[in-house]
Amino acid sequence: MPERKVHIAENQNYGCIQCGRCCRRFHVLMSEDEVLRLGRLLASRPNDLPKEFVTRIDGKPYFARRPSGACVFLDEETGYCRMHSLFGFEQKALSCRGYPVNIASSFPGEVSAIARQDCPAVQQNAGRPLTRQRREIEGLVEELDPQRPFTRRVLEGLDRKAVEAMVGLLVEIMRDETPVPPRQRAGTFRDVVVRLEKIKDFANDPVALSEMLPNLLAKARAASGQRAEAGLSGFSRAVFRTWLGACLRRDTELVRPGVVQRVLRMWTMLQLTFGHGSLHRLGWEHPRTTLDQCPIFGAQAEPSDDAAWASYRRWLVSRLEAYQFFGVTFYDEPFFPGLRALALTYPLVLAAARHHSRSRGANRIEEPDVHYGIGAIDHTLGRSPLMQYPPWRIVENHFFTRWDKLLATLGWE
Ligand code: SF4
Repeated sequence: MPERKVHIAENQNYGCIQCGRCCRRFHVLMSEDEVLRLGRLLASRPNDLPKEFVTRIDGKPYFARRPSGACVFLDEETGYCRMHSLFGFEQKALSCRGYPVNIASSFPGEVSAIARQDCPAVQQNAGRPLTRQRREIEGLVEELDPQRPFTRRVLEGLDRKAVEAMVGLLVEIMRDETPVPPRQRAGTFRDVVVRLEKIKDFANDPVALSEMLPNLLAKARAASGQRAEAGLSGFSRAVFRTWLGACLRRDTELVRPGVVQRVLRMWTMLQLTFGHGSLHRLGWEHPRTTLDQCPIFGAQAEPSDDAAWASYRRWLVSRLEAYQFFGVTFYDEPFFPGLRALALTYPLVLAAARHHSRSRGANRIEEPDVHYGIGAIDHTLGRSPLMQYPPWRIVENHFFTRWDKLLATLGWE
């Protein structure tokens, strides 16, 4: 394999806290070689671990799970992986060793690695800096061998320097420590994305670009300070709830459900579309409260301050710097739809955080609500096959052009 440069997110820390969430949440895929290797390992010394550890879905081998949804190797009392305890980390399946690191190709000859926010340890930003785990991450890159670097089509004709300058400007907005209302910062981010797209035909001229960017940022900041319009239509509200529901569906729900599960899922989605039902039906980590009890729309009594959104800003920076936002990350969508999808995580995280804060009886969105929202949305942004379908691009455009109305209806007036 040719030598590849591995860029690792600089603002993330991670150290597993053995919460066991990933071992309960995912259908973990193995390779056929791993099935054989793990089978031999289990037979190599006396132990009481389950010998039937494979379940096949569409012919592919996954770790078998208990009725509770937990992996057969998880010690549910301690949260430890019994395979890990007995044979050591290095012997585990690649998917288990790799989580929560997201590895993706970027420019030709380069790969980026960030940690996923659906892992509580990453959310808490606790543990060793990811950059100090380079040896392990480079080992994963070698095993995974990610392909499909950005093409000219994906980059929309932009050269690398133009992409770096544009992404750098968006990072600057997120890193700016001047306290501004979250709605205003979100508006600036979205407005800059709109304006960058308008100048893309001139962006490969570095001199022109460096002259345009400061001006563009100043105009976006001025525009985002204006008052938002209220009044998202009933139809748009229904579409947004459906979209949020699609984004909050868990990996567990997507692996070949039976007919009964499909019908139940459709019923849940229909309820959410009309503002009823519980997100909990989409995954056990979501609140049990219903959308009627804790609606995502409507005025908010106390606006949340910028500090509550610090972790969200950190997350956007890591996604931007790793270039892990193209399309919905992995589906070869071009640069600008990727940026739009990333900007739209603002209202999606806001809606999820809002429901979460109301579900604990609060009127104000605090940091834990934002953490929940990021984890819920990042799960999908990184992987859901649902999100690759073209109708979701239409939905993204629908809300991108109704940005102010959407945020105002979500309570950010
Ligand atoms: S979810 Fe994260 S912290 Fe929890 S067991 Fe998995 S890797 Fe460790």
